[in-house]
Amino acid sequence: MKTQEVTHKTKQKLNGFTIEDIGDDHLFTSLDTPMKPNAFDMSNQEKKERISILFSEIMDVLGLDLNDDSLKGTPDRVAKMYVEEIFSGLDPENKPKVALFDNKYQYNQMLVEKNITFYSNCEHHFVPIIGKAHVAYISSGKVIGLSKLNRIVQYYAKRPQVQERLTNQIANDLKTVLETEDVAVIIDAKHLCVSSRGIKDETSATVTSYYGGAFNTAEKIAELQNYINN
Ligand SMILES: [Zn+2]
Repeated sequence: MKTQEVTHKTKQKLNGFTIEDIGDDHLFTSLDTPMKPNAFDMSNQEKKERISILFSEIMDVLGLDLNDDSLKGTPDRVAKMYVEEIFSGLDPENKPKVALFDNKYQYNQMLVEKNITFYSNCEHHFVPIIGKAHVAYISSGKVIGLSKLNRIVQYYAKRPQVQERLTNQIANDLKTVLETEDVAVIIDAKHLCVSSRGIKDETSATVTSYYGGAFNTAEKIAELQNYINN
């Protein structure tokens, strides 16, 4: 009966798509990560305890022997990894604190931080997305420490994600933090749900981009592409 319930759920329609289509085609529904209003009622400790219990149940249903020394600690390890590492970006407490500095050098061209390696997870299959992010901005009078650009990328990557949303969340945050529309984000990533399962395409990659303000011209895009490709 359970299987029927699951199938029934995924056949529900949203904007003409079934829930199953949305997952398989990696469509996304909103810019904000969909969160429950009471997402933080539970402490991190409580979350880890609860996830550990639930994950051991998944393992048990799969038929794994949780008394085996190799498997015993897995539910706790997975719970800790979810809460403290790979999904830690769900918690606004972990948002990087960003200090701005005056642009003393009067540098007024684009600054590009390229090849920021990140690991995220597909929100439809909970398997890794591995990629590189390139971010750029033109100072509105303020500058940011370079490592903060990296940290902002990592923060939004550490959520169950969809690449388009990841791109836009990084861009939006940069715009707010840097007080300018002149930001660009390019993400080039591999989705393990495409390579290791499903269509099993090992060579394809997904590229998404955001060009805001002054970046939204063919000239600036070409300049940025040139920096990234060299
Ligand atoms: Zn996926």
